Amino acid sequence: MKVPKENLVGSENEAFLIFDSMMIPERLTSAAGVLGMARAALDVAVRYSSRRKAFGRPIREFQGVSFKVADAIMELDAARGLVYLAARAADEDGNARRLVSEAKRFATEVAWRVVNHSMQILGGIGYTNVFPVERLLRDIRLAMIWTGTSEVMNLIIQHEYYREVLKGKKDEREVELDATDYNEEEVVFE
Ligand SMILES: Cc1cc2nc3c(=O)[nH]c(=O)nc-3n(C[C@H](O)[C@H](O)[C@H](O)COP(=O)(O)OP(=O)(O)OC[C@H]3O[C@@H](n4cnc5c(N)ncnc54)[C@H](O)[C@@H]3O)c2cc1C
Repeated sequence: MKVPKENLVGSENEAFLIFDSMMIPERLTSAAGVLGMARAALDVAVRYSSRRKAFGRPIREFQGVSFKVADAIMELDAARGLVYLAARAADEDGNARRLVSEAKRFATEVAWRVVNHSMQILGGIGYTNVFPVERLLRDIRLAMIWTGTSEVMNLIIQHEYYREVLKGKKDEREVELDATDYNEEEVVFE
């Protein structure tokens, strides 16, 4: 397909650079968005567990329930901290690929666990559409895939960190070859 010069977006052969810079706000948006979705599901579970009774008392009095809430809010707060750190780095120097990838992967995986715990706290009714948690569970699952999968986030994180540590060193490795080391004999432990 031919595109007239005047219709070019940016310069020729620089599409990847444009794509790469677009991915910073895209991934931050995914990371920040899921925090709110997970918090919404957790708040439903907190309210429900204060009212729902089993074995004669509100289920929040069972640690099997309330400790799930403790884990969930702790992880969400940690994820929020990482998202803010990445957003600040993106605002300040624009070279925030590692932190943004960490925030995207961490926040989306935490959010998935939190919504999953929230549904567990609701029991059977959590699976129905009486509460919005089943919808949040489906929507959050996508966040570990779109704007770059968790595996691709890992590729970027390790790549950027290797570059950061080995910068300027003579023996800088080709990080793409991490899985192979041509200079060593393979050792098999039996
Ligand atoms: C509802 C929805 C909306 C979307 N919206 C948009 C949008 O608006 N804009 C947009 O650009 N894209 C959008 N996407 C596409 C989305 O970003 C891609 O689906 C996603 O990046 C994964 O690419 P893929 O589906 O081609 O999977 P693949 O690249 O085929 O990956 C399949 C699996 O292989 C793994 N994998 C691939 N390469 C490696 C590797 N090197 N190392 C380890 N594991 C690897 C992946 O992690 C994944 O688990 C959307 C997708 C969906 C489902």
